[in-house]
Amino acid sequence: MNRTSNALSRRDGTDTLIQLEHISKTYQSDHAVPHQALQDISLEIGRGEFVGIVGNSGSGKSTLMRILSCEERPTAGVYRFEGISLQDSTPQALSRLRRRKIAVIPQQYRLLRRCSAWENVAAPLNSGSFSPSDRRRRALRALRQVGLRDCADRLPGELSGGQQQRVAIARAMVCHPAMILADEPTGALDIESREAIFQLFQQIHAAGATVLLITHDLSLAARTQRLVRIHRGHICEDRCLDNIA
Ligand code: ADP
Ligand code: MG
Repeated sequence: MNRTSNALSRRDGTDTLIQLEHISKTYQSDHAVPHQALQDISLEIGRGEFVGIVGNSGSGKSTLMRILSCEERPTAGVYRFEGISLQDSTPQALSRLRRRKIAVIPQQYRLLRRCSAWENVAAPLNSGSFSPSDRRRRALRALRQVGLRDCADRLPGELSGGQQQRVAIARAMVCHPAMILADEPTGALDIESREAIFQLFQQIHAAGATVLLITHDLSLAARTQRLVRIHRGHICEDRCLDNIA
């Protein structure tokens, strides 16, 4: 299948979640020439897709993820989320969008070292909107989904790398985001943990989320539904894979 059939399948049913139109990102630096990390990226992703994003180190994958997660703004181009251009959105509106609809799973987990697993998972649940018991209940439910209910009261330092990554995934899932962006989530794990984490993403996708998985691991990317390859800030390949949801 090629890119065209992907667009057709969208017209057949699923709706568009994100659209990037001619997105570029240039980093300025005092002592060097400006560096163009992304160049003229156009990409459309439908709700419920499971996309693997691959590319060499330095090709622009994390930059793309920061733009998709509204952590950074593009230098040029238009980003639409659920059909709405984010170009003129205020920082407050962008952070609201991030809180409600987009979850990011960073490579290095970024867990709060002095907080227990459940407290880490509950961190995105605003204490103004959720009671303490509700925060704990929701966090425990997310931990159960990633198979870590029994570790709820442990500190991150008392968990393995694979378990810490699961806590980070539970933290991403606790707000039921429309889109989950994971940046090399299996990069630091052994083969067994890598497989378990990938299966978790398959489950999250099967439950209805849109999942974008950045990975060095081609064998994992090949098990998603669509492969997007980035090379020197350009999309050089974008094709559907024949993997069943
Ligand atoms: P990848 O995740 O594919 O390894 P990145 O998106 O991290 O690639 O980086 C793409 C390019 O942009 C690299 O050359 C990197 O050095 C550069 N870059 C990324 N972030 C910044 C930044 N904040 N300032 C300057 N250059 C950056
Ligand atoms: Mg990166």
